[in-house]
Amino acid sequence: MSLRIKFNLVLAAVLLLAAAGAGWYVHRFLEETAIEEVRHNSQVMMHTAMAIRDYTTESVKPHLDPMLAERFLPQTVPAYAATETLRRLQARFPGYEYKEAVLNPTNPRDKANEWEEKVVQGFREGRTPLQQEVSGVVGEGVHRAMYVARPITIKQQQCLACHSTPDIAPPSMLQVYGDKNGFGWKLNETVGIQVVKVPMFYPLEKARQTFYTVMGALLASFLLLFAVLNLSLSSLVIEPMARLNRKLEDLATKDFLTDLVNRRRFFERLESEMAETRIRKGHLSVVIFDIDFFKRINDTFGHDSGDVVLKKTALRVRELLRSSDCAARFGGEEFILLLKETPVEAAMAIAEAVRARIAGTPFDAVGHVSASFGVATWNHEEDSHALIKRADTALYQAKASGRNCVVRAQDAA
Ligand code: GH3
Ligand code: MG
Ligand code: MG
Repeated sequence: MSLRIKFNLVLAAVLLLAAAGAGWYVHRFLEETAIEEVRHNSQVMMHTAMAIRDYTTESVKPHLDPMLAERFLPQTVPAYAATETLRRLQARFPGYEYKEAVLNPTNPRDKANEWEEKVVQGFREGRTPLQQEVSGVVGEGVHRAMYVARPITIKQQQCLACHSTPDIAPPSMLQVYGDKNGFGWKLNETVGIQVVKVPMFYPLEKARQTFYTVMGALLASFLLLFAVLNLSLSSLVIEPMARLNRKLEDLATKDFLTDLVNRRRFFERLESEMAETRIRKGHLSVVIFDIDFFKRINDTFGHDSGDVVLKKTALRVRELLRSSDCAARFGGEEFILLLKETPVEAAMAIAEAVRARIAGTPFDAVGHVSASFGVATWNHEEDSHALIKRADTALYQAKASGRNCVVRAQDAA
């Protein structure tokens, strides 16, 4: 696995983990904040209702009570005042509701519905302590709301004037509501609940949208970080490392003077080409050549001029070789060629062309230089050293027979 893939896998895992952790925390935080806001609103509404009730009892009812004998005035009833006032709020804030839900109300509008009845029974049967407020969630989707309920318990004797029996109730009230509903209440009895409902859908929806925005921004930052780290990885690590590797590879496999491959790399190439040739049942030849009287060139023109001859020889060889061939500096002034898919006659021809190219054109001040060649074709049985040995023997024969010539190696014994 490449360094980049490993790095990206680790980075992706870390970023995913960070995104999941941050996502979980942000989601929880936003939802809790939204619910807290709803709870706060419900408290404000509940306390508003209680303030209206108190105001009605303390400041409105005493003024209107004398008129009750003639005409029933619902404005004197605290529950009515709170319900009516907060009902006007609904026009501006849809979904915000206040109700005084009673099991047996005077005004049928205040009759508790099924779930309200359950909450009232919870207080009446002592499952919920009377001094406690209960809250919960009702409704689904857009109608989802938080409710807060407080018990309505008859604490004052004066309440029973209207709610104990019809015969002591104000006749004006009986005229409006009849004598069937809202009687039989007792002191200290919990007859209903004050319920506030505050919509949850919009605050939660707002929290959800904020969550998506935050996560989108986080994701975009992570993508940017991903890209920047990848670019940095390329420019600061991968590319310098690749350059260094190429340099090391060159140092390990190239001859610095001629830029041809060195002896070590030549053997590697030879071994792998022999394996391939064996499979393909093809031909593989090697040509060894050695510059004639090179010592004399060094002695006459200096070591540097000798080096120039070596470099130029390498260039002339390169010009003639095919891309699939390989030329190496085998040592000193000795070179070796690996010729793929080349039977012995073709190898002889290539060797002859190289010989002619070296000997044909003078090397500047050094003048004419020649080389002697040994050519051997692999017999599919011998190892690489035996093959080179045969070529080397042919080269010595070339030296012995006057130099500047090509000699074909003896077939292997
Ligand atoms: P022959 O025709 O029999 O090959 O004779 P020669 O003089 O070419 O052979 P010999 O082995 O006597 O001399 C080879 C010389 O090559 C000796 C050595 O100093 C020289 N030589 C080896 N490597 C280098 C090199 O990198 N640069 C230079 N300038 N000379 C080198
Ligand atoms: Mg020589
Ligand atoms: Mg030599």
